[in-house]
Amino acid sequence: MSEINLSGSCLCGSVQYEIAGTDGRLWHCHCRRCRKATGTGHASNVLLKPDSVKWIAGEDLLNVYKVPDAKRFAAVFCGVCGSLMPRVAPDMSIAVVPAGTLDNDPGLRPEARIFQDSKAPWSCDDTEVPQYDTYPA
Ligand SMILES: [Zn+2]
Ligand SMILES: [Zn+2]
Repeated sequence: MSEINLSGSCLCGSVQYEIAGTDGRLWHCHCRRCRKATGTGHASNVLLKPDSVKWIAGEDLLNVYKVPDAKRFAAVFCGVCGSLMPRVAPDMSIAVVPAGTLDNDPGLRPEARIFQDSKAPWSCDDTEVPQYDTYPA
């Protein structure tokens, strides 16, 4: 199991983080919630099992918006600039890290485009990456 070390920050630089973990995947998610939260065609997220999560700066600036009717979906964002920041399940079972906020190369490349059933008709496409209506089986 290869260790993945991520470090990143928000647009204004107030929030900085480091996350180490395993079982990393990079997925493009086209679901409606990710589209709304990012304002783009899809979210590019690194999902991993976190071993450690370290907020280097600005943890007190983080805001959380939990979608009321969602089981898990929440947007964690910098209260100064609004950049989405990593969200870590309270039980540390999974971390979802917005790939665009990374300051290093996670060493992962996109494995899948998920939630194609919610894809915007204008959203970018890439036939080299497997596509799934929701999650991969
Ligand atoms: Zn910020
Ligand atoms: Zn999504």
